[in-house]
Amino acid sequence: MYDFLIIGCGFAGSVLAERLADQGKKILIVDKRDHIGGNAYDYYNEEGIMIHKYGPHIFHTNSEEVFKYLSRFTEWRPYEHRVLASVDGQLVPIPINLTTINKLYGSNLSSSEVKEFLASKAEARKPVLTSEDVVINAVGKELYEKFFRGYTKKQWDLDPSDLDASVTARVPTRTNSDDRYFTDIFQAMPKNSYTEMFRKMLSHPNIHIMLNTNYKDIVDMIPHKKLIFTGPIDSYFDFRFGKLPYRSIDFRFETLDQHKYQTSGTINYPTSNLYTRITEFKHLTGQQHLKTAIVYEYPTGEGDPYYPIPRKENQEVYNQYKKLADETPDVYFTGRLGTYKYYNMDQVVAQSLALFRKISKENENDNQ
Ligand code: FAD
Ligand code: UDP
Repeated sequence: MYDFLIIGCGFAGSVLAERLADQGKKILIVDKRDHIGGNAYDYYNEEGIMIHKYGPHIFHTNSEEVFKYLSRFTEWRPYEHRVLASVDGQLVPIPINLTTINKLYGSNLSSSEVKEFLASKAEARKPVLTSEDVVINAVGKELYEKFFRGYTKKQWDLDPSDLDASVTARVPTRTNSDDRYFTDIFQAMPKNSYTEMFRKMLSHPNIHIMLNTNYKDIVDMIPHKKLIFTGPIDSYFDFRFGKLPYRSIDFRFETLDQHKYQTSGTINYPTSNLYTRITEFKHLTGQQHLKTAIVYEYPTGEGDPYYPIPRKENQEVYNQYKKLADETPDVYFTGRLGTYKYYNMDQVVAQSLALFRKISKENENDNQ
């Protein structure tokens, strides 16, 4: 009899498996894929270059708790991600910053002059409700068209006016020359690999791992007290309230017979091409190799569910599933798919650590 059957070997499931096993609980963790790590899985391709199977994953967090927790399972390589956007025939920093404006407009403005420039272009939107509002409110229509509208349409197959503000709000606007994609306190990549970090998390005598297995095929045969589900919540309930929409990505990898391909980790293509961005892994991993590997991201409606789509009508459907989930005894939902939240890795770790505390409290109460 397992204490917990956990569905999904990504961050959401692995954190809970590790924490609960450490408390003496017996765990079976199951994934339908042939590997652990969920979407953070990385491996050496046939040419020996470390690649991320599900697109570029860059770790960043402001949470000391999350960083300290993961540091038990990996050493780190400091890495600050930088992204350029191909706009008007030039490569300029995104998030839009002082350098972006001066390069695009051939100017030499100071930080305070850029602030004035952007204020003169911005069109106040009150309230700021959509992803279009966020950008136009900050930088006006022209820069919105250059950097956001086309990229967002490709990524989500929606106009930014049909997406929640939270989506483009992930990308700030700056008037200084900070060209880092993230400004979090902790920014680093696992020194060896994400997969090795997961291997360490899951290597505990109380944790059994079962891969290549859809949980539906085994759930009735495996005696367990409680279940933790990190797959798509709508699939758990057999789509009873309808399908929650997700965006997927077709990742196209190339290995090139050259040392370097591009000058920054990622280059975004907001207005040209069918792909949104190209990432070169060696920037992220620091690997030395004579060849290099890149990935193109082609967004699509078909395929694995990667991105929950943040908009009101989807949230309303999710709320119905959430209510049902709350009423379902001995089953917990967590993770990007389990709670239909556009979460980064660190947010998923924090969410699972919080769920662990909740479960521990319930256990304490049961034992009293
Ligand atoms: P997942 O990693 O998706 O794990 C869920 C697991 O459940 C999967 O392995 C799946 O196979 C399994 N599963 C589902 N259904 C079943 C079933 N029926 N039976 C058995 N198993 C099942 N975050 C960052 O912080 N930084 C980044 O740079 C970053 N880049 C990203 C780039 C892309 C292209 C994508 C898609 C995401 C990115 N993320 C990034 C987000 C990050 O991937 C997620 O936050 C994190 O991996 C979510 O972990 P999870 O465990 O919730 O879900
Ligand atoms: N975005 C954009 N242009 C860019 C970068 C981002 O329009 O050059 C928008 C787009 O809608 C994207 C969202 O901002 O989906 C969030 O970007 P982020 O880089 O955080 O996406 P992720 O890495 O999660 O795919």
